Amino acid sequence: MIKDISLRVSPEIAATPELLAQKVYGVAGCKVNDWKIVKRSVDARKRDIIINLAVRVASGEDDIVPSGYVPVSFPDVSASERKVVVVGAGPAGLFAALECIRLGIKPIVLERGKDVDARRLDIAALNRERKIDPESNYCFGEGGAGTFSDGKLYTRSKKRGNPTEVLSLLVQHGADENILIDSHPHIGSDRLPGIMKNIRQTIINCGGEVRFLTRADRLLIESGKVTGVETSDGSKIYGDAVILATGHSARDVYRNLARDGVKMEAKGLAVGVRLEHPQRLIDRIQYHNPAGRGRWLPAAEYNFVTQADGRGVYSFCMCPGGVVVAAGSGPEELVVNGMSASARSSIWANSGMVVELRPGDFPEYDGRGEFEMLDLVEDLEKKFYKESNDSITAPAQRMKDFVEGKDSKNLPPSSYLPGLYEARMDKMLPPFIARRLQNGFRQFGRKADGFLTNEAILIGLESRTSSPVRIPRDKETLCHIEIKGLYPAGEGAGYAGGIVSAAIDGMRCARSISQSLIPT
Ligand SMILES: Cc1cc2nc3c(=O)[nH]c(=O)nc-3n(C[C@H](O)[C@H](O)[C@H](O)COP(=O)(O)OP(=O)(O)OC[C@H]3O[C@@H](n4cnc5c(N)ncnc54)[C@H](O)[C@@H]3O)c2cc1C
Repeated sequence: MIKDISLRVSPEIAATPELLAQKVYGVAGCKVNDWKIVKRSVDARKRDIIINLAVRVASGEDDIVPSGYVPVSFPDVSASERKVVVVGAGPAGLFAALECIRLGIKPIVLERGKDVDARRLDIAALNRERKIDPESNYCFGEGGAGTFSDGKLYTRSKKRGNPTEVLSLLVQHGADENILIDSHPHIGSDRLPGIMKNIRQTIINCGGEVRFLTRADRLLIESGKVTGVETSDGSKIYGDAVILATGHSARDVYRNLARDGVKMEAKGLAVGVRLEHPQRLIDRIQYHNPAGRGRWLPAAEYNFVTQADGRGVYSFCMCPGGVVVAAGSGPEELVVNGMSASARSSIWANSGMVVELRPGDFPEYDGRGEFEMLDLVEDLEKKFYKESNDSITAPAQRMKDFVEGKDSKNLPPSSYLPGLYEARMDKMLPPFIARRLQNGFRQFGRKADGFLTNEAILIGLESRTSSPVRIPRDKETLCHIEIKGLYPAGEGAGYAGGIVSAAIDGMRCARSISQSLIPT
């Protein structure tokens, strides 16, 4: 017989297999032949931190608890007559390709950047030489923005699909099975590259194609239907449909689409700063313990959200034990983001702290149509770059100084490798953003004693929270509303935010294409 039991145990018991096993045997109330944790979460609301566990127990002589996931078997599609061109090898593109294969369609994946190994060298050079290669950086290359990302895998949007499908595929390609049980699953930027490579290998082994350093520059459209793409070297690649999964950093893609008359619309997004605290301080606050997290607990997380003058102000993509990185994709822009390795062991905690912006908020951008928000964020990124002496050395200000509108005389050590300089972020940011952030920080400081502190610094600019453009598509078929055969997918299309939701969206597009290719 198999049954589920719930346990509430101390962090030490949860982390010590022998102690946990004793607890399971005690609570199960029957002979235990085998057991597995199926859900795990940290309850840090009170001083005594509790780990909540759901445990599946098998009690019969021959019973065992089955593994948490069933691997998908992918057929050989090398001879398939159905072909789909997938532009972009980020989570949306790669998961779309896997789903195409599962459905018997041959994917041809085109990626402007390099494979992860070559990309890793470019990123090391970026941090050393403070120069961004516009085709190989934290946003472009195998795995997209998802490769050297933090790899947090929780998504709030469960309406559109099943996150477990994506997590299972990640496990199948090398991720730890813990991501299937943790309430806040995380992979880490040290493990993601290997997983992305394994996904590429599955695609190739099954007869799909993955072409690096191949940028799609133009859609080939005949009588209102897309037939393929033209790449940067002038080649034409044809397919029954095109999945456009180019992420939201590829601004040239939006401009090329506009040139070709593809309908798009402006979309709201959020802009602000990266906030970096010492991790020990966040541990003390979140675990209500001056001694910090101790031996058994993970680096603590936080999540803040409030309203200030009619706009949301919130923490975004929090990276416990992480580092701040230069995540621009063009040569003259200053953009920061955050990531952490699987151990989350750095001495810093960072998160985006951003203010919601809507079309119409900056009247000087009225009349820019679909590019209203894109132009706004691009101008801000360029302004930050210019004011930083044409470099990605980033401006920073201590948190309390920012709220009080004061100079920071010096800065504490930071994880940001290209370096920081003291700046008045309260003046560099547009007043619309700065005022609301100051207001939000005051509120967060009241909610969490010690959070609003000069031990923390703001680093600018955090501007790639989501797409500034939406490529409208039919709700049912996910096909572009005007151009047949064009499936805008993932974050760049404006229908996803984050690794899991982008992957889900890519898979949904593949399914819809498969339906449309069934002969009637
Ligand atoms: C530093 C950092 C940390 C992050 N941390 C997290 C996190 O912890 N959790 C989370 O859920 N999300 C995180 N994100 C966001 C996440 O990475 C994105 O939401 C996700 O990658 C979006 O997937 P996508 O496939 O839609 O687009 P992308 O990942 O942006 O992929 C698009 C791909 O298309 C390629 N491309 C663009 N234009 C062309 C073209 N013309 N021709 C061919 N190829 C092209 C690009 O090179 C890129 O590889 C992070 C992002 C960054 C930068």
